[in-house]
Amino acid sequence: MKARSIKNSRVIVLGAGRSGLAAVDFLLKQNCSVVLYDGSETEKPVYAELREKGVRIFAASVPEASDFDYAVISPGIPLTDRCAVALKNASVPIWGELEIASRFIKKPIIGITGTNGKTTTTTLIGEILKNAGYDVFVGGNIGVPLLKSLDHPYDYYVVEMSSFQLETVETMDAAVSVFLNLTPDHLDRHGSMENYLRIKGNLAALQSKDHFCVLNEEDPAIRSIAKRTKAKCFYFNRHDFTYEGCFISKDGQWLTFRDPSDHRNQMDSHEHIVRLDSIRIAGPHNLENAMAAVAACRLLGIDKDVIADTLRVFPGVEHRLEDVAVIDGVRYVNDSKATNPDSVFKALVSFGDAPILLIAGGRNKGNSFTELGELMKKKCKNAFLIGEAAEDIKESCLKAGFSEKALFVLPDLAAAVRAAHDLAEKGDVVLLSPANASFDQFNSFEHRGEVFKDLVHRLEK
Ligand code: ADP
Repeated sequence: MKARSIKNSRVIVLGAGRSGLAAVDFLLKQNCSVVLYDGSETEKPVYAELREKGVRIFAASVPEASDFDYAVISPGIPLTDRCAVALKNASVPIWGELEIASRFIKKPIIGITGTNGKTTTTTLIGEILKNAGYDVFVGGNIGVPLLKSLDHPYDYYVVEMSSFQLETVETMDAAVSVFLNLTPDHLDRHGSMENYLRIKGNLAALQSKDHFCVLNEEDPAIRSIAKRTKAKCFYFNRHDFTYEGCFISKDGQWLTFRDPSDHRNQMDSHEHIVRLDSIRIAGPHNLENAMAAVAACRLLGIDKDVIADTLRVFPGVEHRLEDVAVIDGVRYVNDSKATNPDSVFKALVSFGDAPILLIAGGRNKGNSFTELGELMKKKCKNAFLIGEAAEDIKESCLKAGFSEKALFVLPDLAAAVRAAHDLAEKGDVVLLSPANASFDQFNSFEHRGEVFKDLVHRLEK
């Protein structure tokens, strides 16, 4: 389908959340006849206004699929939803916002994906490009949906892309794709790691040969994506020299970038970008995010001094290993965005030898806690477990030999913070890094993080 054929067509939007509402807005501007479907019967306040604009709304009931030229699906709705299945059976093309929006975008798209680190890396690349003087859209899976960017002509589109969104791309050709890592997550929706990898890989598989793909060389699943793309592959590697891409200099001091056939200058560029000890975001995982950003930005031709200056000041993103307070020598850290086990592994190795009092739990997304239990045994002095996953995490900890006396299953976050405060001693770290989604007890991970910060600040009084 060509972009112009979207105009005046009959479209169904699945999902009345942020992404779906942005799609409705966009489609109305394209003079489309729009139907909005949502799986919940609840009447949302926004529906009245949409009806006035001519949008027909189906809450929980499924409209006749053959009435539509195409469908726009929100990331929160699986393709197994009964409405999506009916549309598929009626051969109605189903796209997500990435596919639709990218058909209208003429300037470079930088797509960032991976299990963890997407928001940090997306935000960082956005900052570097802004500091280089460009007008930059930063959004997608975070903040502003990509469809909202079409009102304004940006120089660059830096877009966080989740696996849910990449399930429905067909033609999007990103100028640079960035693949950070792949560890178990969302398996309740994707079924298997193979499927999860295949979906993420769609981003690279659609790129053309004059474009670039940045891959984590140390992650075998991510490395395998090189086989699926025509784009030129560059790598990042924290432990070894990489022939094309970003690595750490032999003396361990510099983040270094190498492009053996520099496409801009027709020469072998091998350059020190920034000293490691001057990068502000902490932890080995953040070094990987920084390396990915360096590679992406150098490939876009951004000045290395701008990249270095940004890395010296970029503070990271809220709710990701965010320092909240130091009270009586105890450091309190909010990592509410750690919604899967791997992000907690990274958090647990980010504090050197400091004893950690970990607050974890929430709603499991189909992950195993076996390895988490083993690392908790090594790194944590105490664990305070809350929410639906508490008993499962406890069981994994006990299997790993974690002392039962040091484990507490508690009703909520307030009780966990109180208990941690009571047991923590000078030099300890109290870390909220839940390894689970927040929806059993909170509206979102942001909400959970805000409640945590508020509880900690109250301890200060
Ligand atoms: P995403 O958008 O992919 O969820 P974020 O940048 O929001 O990524 O970080 C989510 C969680 O993962 C945080 O707990 C953060 O500390 C951790 N994290 C960030 N970068 C990485 C990485 N490269 N590898 C593993 N964990 C990471």
